[in-house]
Amino acid sequence: MAIARPKNSQMRFQPDSAITANPRGITPAAGAAPALTIVNGNAGGGRAAHRAPGALAELRRRGVKLDVRFTEAPGHAIELASQGYRDGYRRFLSVGGDGTTYEMLNGIFPRPEGDVEPVAIGQLPLGTGNSFLRDFSITEERAALHALVEGKRRSCDIIKGVHRGGEFYFINLLAVGFPAQVCALTNERFKGLGAAGYAVSVVASLFSMQRPILNIAVDGIQDKRRCTFLAFSNSGFTGGTMNMAPGASVNDGLMDIVRVDPMSAMTLVRAFPSIYGGTHTSRPDIHHTTGRRVTFEPTAEPLEAMVDGEVLRVHLESLEVIPRAVEVIA
Ligand SMILES: [Mg+2]
Repeated sequence: MAIARPKNSQMRFQPDSAITANPRGITPAAGAAPALTIVNGNAGGGRAAHRAPGALAELRRRGVKLDVRFTEAPGHAIELASQGYRDGYRRFLSVGGDGTTYEMLNGIFPRPEGDVEPVAIGQLPLGTGNSFLRDFSITEERAALHALVEGKRRSCDIIKGVHRGGEFYFINLLAVGFPAQVCALTNERFKGLGAAGYAVSVVASLFSMQRPILNIAVDGIQDKRRCTFLAFSNSGFTGGTMNMAPGASVNDGLMDIVRVDPMSAMTLVRAFPSIYGGTHTSRPDIHHTTGRRVTFEPTAEPLEAMVDGEVLRVHLESLEVIPRAVEVIA
């Protein structure tokens, strides 16, 4: 069931005329404070380590100031961004995949109360997923490079997740059910195989598909139905080119919620290709809606949730949109 939307929100983003990085036409980005640049060399199966030096040299040549740090282990980008924020950086560049940007965001947030200075984040997509920039019509490295040189900023919501043991922030999507099952299996067993590993995990997961009942409330309205999966999206694209939440706007203050009813493995396999064109939501067994805040009734066991390509096992309590929390350089 497709969502009804006001016409103008079909745009991938709504440009914010109040935000311009280059008001007087001076050399783009020149004169600005350096961007804390966090390089995850392992992203994209090592592609980032290979591609980053040339890309960063080009950015510098074209006037972009960068202070570069390299991650040494999973989670390290959180630490680097957090330290950078305390040191006064307000422009951040993630060099890697969506996972690197996710970690960076969780180093910047939560911000101390009263810190209202805008925070800008950019991404040089060298990872496997690279979904997020697609919502800003950037699909490859060259276009991202050009956008970073231009320095144009677009305001963007983020989503805050609260669980029993703490909180986290994401910019792309959180999914429970089938996608989380696939992602967990990929990360545990088949990470080294790249896209093939993902495909193997999809097939393997079809045979042990869980169809959880999640008791949620969207802006106070209860919903307790079994599902194949539920996705809570800030941006439209996921997994590179899947248009999970067609027409989603990154700065309308709303998250897009896609619910897939219980399906057989065969039906799921047949329906799956329609996600690339974003036509899946016109099926009668897939529902697309929006909301500002979602609460979860506590479950006995922790929930497996896929968040921007990472898998969390948490007792999820709520998800809430923080409108226009960052500016994306794109
Ligand atoms: Mg939105």
